[in-house]
Amino acid sequence: MFKYSLDNKRYHTLNYFFRNKFGFKVVKVSLNGNFSCPNFKNGQGCIFCAHGSGNRLEHKSLKEQFEIIKKPLDKKWKDAKYIAYLQANTNTYAPIDVLKKVYTEALSLPNVIGLDIATRSDALNDDVLDYLEELNKKTFLIVELGLQSCHDTTLKFIKRGHDVNNFQEAVKKLKERGIFVVAHIINGIPGESKEMMIETAKFLNEIGINGIKIHMLYISPETELASMYQKEKFPLLSWREYVDIVCEQLRYLNDKIVIFRISSSPEDENFMAPKWLEKRKLILNEVDKEMKKRDIYQGDKVTSS
Ligand code: SF4
Repeated sequence: MFKYSLDNKRYHTLNYFFRNKFGFKVVKVSLNGNFSCPNFKNGQGCIFCAHGSGNRLEHKSLKEQFEIIKKPLDKKWKDAKYIAYLQANTNTYAPIDVLKKVYTEALSLPNVIGLDIATRSDALNDDVLDYLEELNKKTFLIVELGLQSCHDTTLKFIKRGHDVNNFQEAVKKLKERGIFVVAHIINGIPGESKEMMIETAKFLNEIGINGIKIHMLYISPETELASMYQKEKFPLLSWREYVDIVCEQLRYLNDKIVIFRISSSPEDENFMAPKWLEKRKLILNEVDKEMKKRDIYQGDKVTSS
């Protein structure tokens, strides 16, 4: 059995990481802190952005959101503890007083033992970084940063609003402060080859991220990407291609890197394509099968420098 998994996975699972770190079941609860995003100012934001992922309960208080979301979780795992996950938009994009208020409230919810903040690399000024450093000494803190690709041409194409260097600098600053950093990447962006997507995994491995979320590009209605797709149906990865790429990416990620996700379920049930994303379990199972068939593991292609 792979040493960083509690089941048949050949990669470092989040479940293993939490069990090993805390000794009990930990579940992330996605909360909407009602933040905006600096990239909205540059027009529409990233071309695939449906203006905010995460739960749609922003009109409710964090406490109310928490109660609603954890009800079914409580039934499934009676003794679980929680990590409050601020997911929608850019959760460091506000004055520091506002951040302090929202983070403190999230951390005061019952059985919450840590905080996970999704943000952008260009929304981490020194005041925010210093506050995160302080917070990291008091609680278990995760900062999630979107990168999507390590190729600046791709970042320009998706209108990311920052370059790879900006991301790399932010990771360095967070790591200098001892903060656990998770990077998000997207496979299947038009113009990217399999080799380019593997280069993104290699790049993240080299800069020493702690965790990763791997997503497939999907098309939500009323996005710039949707208009492009309606004009000309560009090719999207098939699920077999996606599984093949993910298996290869995992091989270039050091086995200490925690795999937070290898497939996403679109937030918007009216998403246009690819429809195979409706079967998230299929992808998880196929990655397991494929890794076993090829007899490969996370990190088995990492060469130590
Ligand atoms: S960073 Fe996130 S919220 Fe902001 S525009 Fe891009 S996808 Fe949308």
